[in-house]
Amino acid sequence: MHNRKPPLRVKISARGASRLKSGHVWVYRSDVRSADNIPPGSVVAVADERGKPLGTALYSSSSQIAIRMISHEPVSDLPQLLRRRLANAVVYRERIVRDTNACRLTFSEADFLPGLIVDRYNDILSLQILTQAIDCNPVRETVISQLTQQLDCASIFERVDPRVRELESLPPRASGLLHGDKTATTFTMNRVQFQFDALEGQKTGAFLDQRENYAAAAQYAKGDALDVFCYQGGFALHLAPVCRRVTGVDSSRPALEVADKNAVLNRRDIEWIEGNAFDLLKDYASSHHRYDTIVVDPPAFAKTKRDLESALRGYKELNLRALKMLRPGGILITCSCSYHVSESDFREMLASAALDAHRTVRLLEVRGQAKDHPVLLNVPETAYLKCLVASVN
Ligand code: SAH
Repeated sequence: MHNRKPPLRVKISARGASRLKSGHVWVYRSDVRSADNIPPGSVVAVADERGKPLGTALYSSSSQIAIRMISHEPVSDLPQLLRRRLANAVVYRERIVRDTNACRLTFSEADFLPGLIVDRYNDILSLQILTQAIDCNPVRETVISQLTQQLDCASIFERVDPRVRELESLPPRASGLLHGDKTATTFTMNRVQFQFDALEGQKTGAFLDQRENYAAAAQYAKGDALDVFCYQGGFALHLAPVCRRVTGVDSSRPALEVADKNAVLNRRDIEWIEGNAFDLLKDYASSHHRYDTIVVDPPAFAKTKRDLESALRGYKELNLRALKMLRPGGILITCSCSYHVSESDFREMLASAALDAHRTVRLLEVRGQAKDHPVLLNVPETAYLKCLVASVN
């Protein structure tokens, strides 16, 4: 599929060009100067206002992020480039991922594959397509053929987020199998087993980005443990071998049903409570429930920058209650997966909660997302997960 036609060209403003020079890979629509007659999802040559070439990008006709760079060089054969990028991403994981057969194989921009996420759950791959360029059929075929060639997988499942397709002006599409017919399997992280069912309608599968934090939490956890926002039991299952009693709380019944199956699979006795974490923590804190270990891992409260203040209030309320409920010498594991809440915002929030709760908090570890979700240093948006492990007196 060699593209011998002259490349489609997009000119960008000086501000867009300087963003690329700083190592970022996005150009916003407001910095696009000319993109006439460019079909959605095209591979484009990017140039500054004077026509100086800046590399090759994938173009979106509808996203605010109009340009996602894919190479500093001209690209004449996109399928070949994608194959190489995929192969490199998989080899990178082979080098840095330990103790699991589940990990993120490609993480979009962080692997120079903008708009493509591939997660591996043992022998099932779960694929998410986030941009027009990756959604087109030749690209899909290349991705599937490379993945099946390079990996020993039983099936490939596509997980569709309708909101993403709408933002990219892509026609609706159902989640489903792209290759093979296996839809359920079990996978292992840190010797803990988990069930995976692609058809179960769980939006994310599992939170693979917490894999290393599960292991870290288990190193400090003790006594009576509470896992708040437990989902399918990621933290709770890791705490169970080292704690006397473990309780997981989540508002999603389907998530707790899987959590319970996971507990059986690992022969662990864990109590699951379906409820609103805010209400439950309030009740428990005022009725003098006490714990030695508490995990707080809520969903992203700040979806946009504008939500920052209310998000921080939410985090503070939860962490304040958790701090009050910890016995002296207790362990708090507290997380935020909102990109818009920076690590320093999050630390300040916890510092302020510690003052209000009259507790002394010592940071044991400042952690982020697992290494298979790489952080590209010049693309701050690739770093989103914060996980603080602290000792509380
Ligand atoms: N700790 C989990 C991931 C948590 S994701 C893991 O490691 O796998 C966030 C979870 O919060 C989801 O399972 C969602 O169902 C739950 N949730 C969202 N709002 C909630 C609320 N108000 N009370 C309790 N659970 C909530």
